Amino acid sequence: MGQAKREAERQEQMHHVVVEIAKKTDLLYECEAHGYTISTGEVDFTSAYKYANTMYSNNDPRTEIFKNRNELTDTIKRVVEDYGTTCPGCEKVDRE
Ligand SMILES: [Zn+2]
Repeated sequence: MGQAKREAERQEQMHHVVVEIAKKTDLLYECEAHGYTISTGEVDFTSAYKYANTMYSNNDPRTEIFKNRNELTDTIKRVVEDYGTTCPGCEKVDRE
């Protein structure tokens, strides 16, 4: 497997773990009607960072993909900030 592909897969796995953490700590949620992941608009990431750090300290296997704690918390911020606060499905219904 090439280096670039491996890194892409790692990023994808990191993304997956971070979304899980963000949902548990109310940064992200899923629209029940459409299944889209949406940001709650919360800008305080403290509880997510705490949760992630606890996982890391407990050697949770999901954190093994991250090189260090900073990469874990940086990824949380980067990934969560990428999500919009409106569901594309709900937006469409509103427009119709
Ligand atoms: Zn929706």
